[in-house]
Amino acid sequence: MAALKNDPVHEDSIRSMEPDRRTVFVETWGCQMNELDSRRFVGLMAREGYLEAASPDDADLVLLNTCSVRDRAEQKVYDYLGRIAARKRVRPGLLLGVCGCVAQQEGEEILRRSPAVDFVLGTGRIELLPSIVRRAEKERDRPIEVGFDMDEVAYTPGAVARTLAHRASITIIEGCNKNCTFCVVPTTRGRERNRRLTEIVDESRRLVGEGVVEIELLGQTVNAYSDPATGERLPTLLRALSGIAGLRRLRFVTSHPRDFDDDLIAAMAESAVVCPALHLPFQSGSDRILGRMKRQYTRGEYLDLVGRLRSAIPGIAMSTDIIVGFPGETDEDFAATISVLDEVRFSSIFCFTYSPRPRTAAARWDQDVPVRVAQERLALLNDHQQALQLQANEALVGKVLEVLVEGSDRTGQRVSGRSPFNHLVHIDGIPGTASGTFVMAVVEKGLANSLVARPLRRVRSADAGGTDLAS
Ligand code: SF4
Repeated sequence: MAALKNDPVHEDSIRSMEPDRRTVFVETWGCQMNELDSRRFVGLMAREGYLEAASPDDADLVLLNTCSVRDRAEQKVYDYLGRIAARKRVRPGLLLGVCGCVAQQEGEEILRRSPAVDFVLGTGRIELLPSIVRRAEKERDRPIEVGFDMDEVAYTPGAVARTLAHRASITIIEGCNKNCTFCVVPTTRGRERNRRLTEIVDESRRLVGEGVVEIELLGQTVNAYSDPATGERLPTLLRALSGIAGLRRLRFVTSHPRDFDDDLIAAMAESAVVCPALHLPFQSGSDRILGRMKRQYTRGEYLDLVGRLRSAIPGIAMSTDIIVGFPGETDEDFAATISVLDEVRFSSIFCFTYSPRPRTAAARWDQDVPVRVAQERLALLNDHQQALQLQANEALVGKVLEVLVEGSDRTGQRVSGRSPFNHLVHIDGIPGTASGTFVMAVVEKGLANSLVARPLRRVRSADAGGTDLAS
């Protein structure tokens, strides 16, 4: 994907270097939830008077928001720590905090391995960032805050330094109760904690009032959402949000197949704003491997769910996550995974070779698939999917799509954005079109990972709600 230029929202908190204001820089690894948490870090510290720095070299406070889903991601954190530690020697006042999933998982071990680290803050204690920074600064006692002792997600609405004016993510549930045998999330994010439905609706209304036209609801198992006071579920939330005037697109990620019911399918189908695109991990096409993973569904149940989604929401685009080389995976199991690609025809997939994580059941098993075999399977899977995607995207030539512009390439000549189906669409011929503008465009070329389109006469602005802007 071409590099996109984002529109900063909070000019006062971004990259200007005022000599008397302290600055914070956040380095982020991992998923969308981590990205949103990083914006919460910047938002919380902005309330303490901090500006956001453009690089760690300009910062008085450097936060590492870490990911431990894969071993390589964790190693990158320690490599980065080594580099920042060198910087502390020439700038002793610099404060360094390790946050996120590695912080939650490793705790004290980080302080032992990296003397340069001033504090450790786990994923369940984000709201304590300002106080732990003050304490680390004053006491220099290297505090640690980890653990999950709250029933609800502690969240300061509004303390999120957004980077896009037209699109926002909102965490609605954190943690996971599922315990898949390969996954570290229940350790690093704890058990499920939900936000109040009324709080989410109020936050969404405020964001739409500020110009947001697309909202994405986030959670490790977003469709397990349940209001902690009333028990209202995701379908009720989708229906409530669909009624907000001015909200044009609503998405939610990541869903677990086990928590998907007919009411949720109905809520998606009846809403004019819930996008016809769904990310639904299946992980393996083999029932034997699904059982070893403790995924709580069979291949048949997954395919049946896809069938029900497709009949209720014609054209819905499906994307998924897949793990190859799980302990004990045979050639037959892998062939079963490939065959799911043929049956479902996903619009995109995220696939990885299995990586054993600490304190997970699968990490204690032998029957490891040799690395070379796992990598060969990964390459085969990717090649197979790329061919299917190319075929599907070529079939879209001539189709008209509504594209929400997200940015432009370095030359400014080509703008790019997303269709409701989540296709990445590049559009030539309307240079300078601002992020947040809706463009009706006709697909001229389908590539494996994106579409190239030409704008139609009508170009609609997000905030003008349908005004013609271009030829
Ligand atoms: S449902 Fe998802 S987050 Fe939860 S344990 Fe399984 S893979 Fe991890």
